[in-house]
Amino acid sequence: MKKLFFDAHTHLSASEAKVVSHGESQVSRIINSTCPEEWIRFARLTDENKKTASQNWLLTCGLHPWNLAEAGLRSTWQAQFLEALETWAGGIGEVGLHRDQHTSADSFAAQQVALRWQLSVAVKRNLPVSIHCVQAAGALVALLETTGAPKRGVHLHDFRGSAELVKRLAKYQTYFSVGPKLGPLTKKRTAFLCAIPEGRLFLETDQAAQDGAMRMRLLQETATALADIRGQTPTEILKVTEANARKYFFGP
Ligand SMILES: [Zn+2]
Repeated sequence: MKKLFFDAHTHLSASEAKVVSHGESQVSRIINSTCPEEWIRFARLTDENKKTASQNWLLTCGLHPWNLAEAGLRSTWQAQFLEALETWAGGIGEVGLHRDQHTSADSFAAQQVALRWQLSVAVKRNLPVSIHCVQAAGALVALLETTGAPKRGVHLHDFRGSAELVKRLAKYQTYFSVGPKLGPLTKKRTAFLCAIPEGRLFLETDQAAQDGAMRMRLLQETATALADIRGQTPTEILKVTEANARKYFFGP
């Protein structure tokens, strides 16, 4: 049966021992890691889940900006990261930049160093890369300007930006995933959601443990709400996001 659902950004909860849980056979998903401890767990899970390995899920390796302080203290994280790409990881994520009122200039600078390095690995190997970007769009654009983007493009997950940024990021073949928390639907947000070109749109839940039916329901609801805003049908949104994500994450 052809799959119609593609969850372009998820995680695993600490208790999940299986990559694909019961009833999930109709949903393809990308499962992101965020720190070296999780990379060790994902390596083990890859061995244990070999039987279900297919084009339906992909485990990715990333150092999330929230976990940088801890991992950054160990100089071995980059070697571990490269080893993950040799052994189990099929892409890079979740990586990114995150700025809020607690972020110091030093920590933001360190985030940029870590992202630049991870991004340049993605560029060199033309790997899919899933980026978290909060209050840091200017810095991200500047960084992409120097590293470039993988040939296949980059993926910004649950991005909150303007329609103008969609245009600025187009030259890096940027894909945007939209999740169940669509709103608040301000004028700017609505313009952003309408500005994403059809060929650059993904859906995501950003959720760990969910059974297949629940995950499909979340994706269906997101597609329905988004279809309403963009003047499309939910089926069109599901079909095109599935095809886009399959091409981006599993394509050559
Ligand atoms: Zn995430």
